[in-house]
Amino acid sequence: EKLTVSVKEHQYNVYVGSKTYELFASEYADLINSTDKIGIIADSHVAELHLPLLKNALARTGREISVKIVPGGESCKSSDVYVDCQSFLLTEGFTRNSLLIAFGGGACGDLTGFVAATFMRGIRFIQCPTTVLAHDSAVGGKTAINMPEGKNMVGAFHQPAAVLFDTDVFKTLPASEMRSGMAELIKHAFISDAVWTEQLLVEEQFSTPSIEWLESELMQGIHVKAQIVGEDEFEHSTRKFLNFGHTFGHAVEAASGYGKLSHGECVMIGMGYAFLLSEKHGDISADFTNQYLQFAKQNGYTFEPVFSYSFDELLSYMQKDKKASFGKMNFVMLKEIGQPFVKEITTEQCREVFEEFKQKLE
Ligand code: NAD
Ligand code: ZN
Repeated sequence: EKLTVSVKEHQYNVYVGSKTYELFASEYADLINSTDKIGIIADSHVAELHLPLLKNALARTGREISVKIVPGGESCKSSDVYVDCQSFLLTEGFTRNSLLIAFGGGACGDLTGFVAATFMRGIRFIQCPTTVLAHDSAVGGKTAINMPEGKNMVGAFHQPAAVLFDTDVFKTLPASEMRSGMAELIKHAFISDAVWTEQLLVEEQFSTPSIEWLESELMQGIHVKAQIVGEDEFEHSTRKFLNFGHTFGHAVEAASGYGKLSHGECVMIGMGYAFLLSEKHGDISADFTNQYLQFAKQNGYTFEPVFSYSFDELLSYMQKDKKASFGKMNFVMLKEIGQPFVKEITTEQCREVFEEFKQKLE
């Protein structure tokens, strides 16, 4: 299946399915032939499991490929790894005409995108995402690395030349990473579509999806993301809606020191909090919030972290959130399912809703 993302001056296709890397030799032969050098930046875990799949497909283009393996997962998004990648490209003789391929989850995609955005002031790159979560991260052109002071603090907008999502690699995805990605998927439903939301909330294979079902769901999620990014590439307005569940979710993720829970599992918690806010400021019913919480628990998501941190602890992270401008806390809420809006919330109200959240979860 294919979908086109259109952002100003730039269009690219997103493919989701089996054997999509074959497109390098067919659909993208011109692009491959117009580059002087091709490099893969690969997540170490993914490389160990799946590098031959990508390399064999690329071998069919007849081009020689350099491979740079980077640490698996979030640890690749460091300034050290970033500099290491730049040195690698320079010693291998990469130029402004070269092409990079990101092979891994959102972390490797973010790193590779930022390397591509800044090497020689910007070269082309293709995303080959390997996690469900990356249906979110690989589309839209946000790239970044982390700093000791905070996550994603240094980055750039740099759209990929293509996104090739091969679903064959999902076989090896751990259950927690599947939950992480599915949380972002249902987020895309919540902010866009009441009918789709209803379907997902009663879907029995939600956390253990079949590949066929997942492919069409991912396509829908990508469609939502692509549409929003097409409207508001640089996040002045509607792109903020994609942060539904993220203000509180990021606080939990940061408080737990990253890594204990996956990003999406924290977003699932954050969406529960955002639904409680939406009861007050929108027309979301308490019944809906309860249905959501039950659905999440049934699918293996935990809300334990809500009890592990004090409000003040979480508040300090919420105020540090990159999206909180000038110390104000802006939350994405829903008027109804599919109708997001952004509103500033006072610290006091934030605290009240936190207490309510705990009561509801007990
Ligand atoms: P990840 O890239 O850290 O991957 C998660 C883990 O799964 C890693 O250990 C990785 O090695 C492993 N893995 C990846 N694919 C696998 C496979 N097919 N089989 C087995 N193991 C596999 O995590 P993620 O959830 O994909 O991405 C999270 C990152 O994405 C964060 O850094 C976040 O900031 C970023 N992100 C970016 C955007 C954006 O718009 N740029 C949006 C959302 C998230
Ligand atoms: Zn997210």
